[in-house]
Amino acid sequence: MVCLLLNMKTNPMYLQRTLQTEIKLKSIGLHSGRKVNMTIKPAGMDEGIMFVRSDVPGENRIKADLRNVSDTTLATTIGLNGVRVATIEHLLSAFRGVGVDNAVVEVDSPEVPIMDGSALPFVNELKSVGTRVQNRSRRFLIVKKEVSVSDAEGEAKLVPSNEFQITYTIDYDHPLIGNQTFHMAFNKENYEKEICAARTFGFLKDVEYLQAKGLALGGSLHNAIVLDDKRIINKEGLRCPNELVKHKVLDAIGDLFLLGMPIIGHLIARKSGHRLNNLLIRKLISDKEAWTISHFEKRSKIEGLDKLDRSGRIYLSQA
Ligand SMILES: [Zn+2]
Repeated sequence: MVCLLLNMKTNPMYLQRTLQTEIKLKSIGLHSGRKVNMTIKPAGMDEGIMFVRSDVPGENRIKADLRNVSDTTLATTIGLNGVRVATIEHLLSAFRGVGVDNAVVEVDSPEVPIMDGSALPFVNELKSVGTRVQNRSRRFLIVKKEVSVSDAEGEAKLVPSNEFQITYTIDYDHPLIGNQTFHMAFNKENYEKEICAARTFGFLKDVEYLQAKGLALGGSLHNAIVLDDKRIINKEGLRCPNELVKHKVLDAIGDLFLLGMPIIGHLIARKSGHRLNNLLIRKLISDKEAWTISHFEKRSKIEGLDKLDRSGRIYLSQA
């Protein structure tokens, strides 16, 4: 305990964080095509990420929690008492990337604004206001046993690791994509440099089909990479050669943050998506032998990563 108290004074890196001040953002919803005003506000310790539908009277609060996920078609949607908020994954990914544990997100529409289709605008805003350390240690969910899920398309598994790692493979029958794998050991620097700017993507034939069904109505070349059978339609091309697989990593980081705390384990996914990501964390949580929750205990000299020592104690966390 003495050690913990000393660390709490000298090393705020493992403590919970919220925003310094509120942020206001405006864009459209990818699927609704409607204008959305979003305000992200600081929140108290242990409150997690709380979404509030400001356009709905009465019960309008939904916690970003895997148990509240109500739909995973095309995006991750949470819902409670008939109120829902869709496309939360890019914002959750930005919170995890920047290291925000507690925030209130008010939206006046059923969807988080899509911005440019990546998490970069959220990361830039969060960094511009900065984060504030809170006087409570951050909790981590430690994977203790392998858990896997699969469907006809793909598979996803979590295996124990001494840090949060992701290995993601996509495989599309398209001349510009094909089979790509990206691996990262998660830390704030890698997230900002490699992941947060990767945009969502879709295929022209699917976009036409979805729009005929009243979906993806806000989708455009300003907020998505669109591919036809042979090429990328966006004039500017890709932001990096493997932008598509990196966006899947961005999505997975957001989907896993629905655990309500950072995870320490290795996600290995092939052709996964929001549905399998959610099934995976539900399966993990349902098996009490497969995980444990830990607080920071001891400081390491190495900086930058959330890691465990051999005894299973977390010895460092990023801000
Ligand atoms: Zn996405």
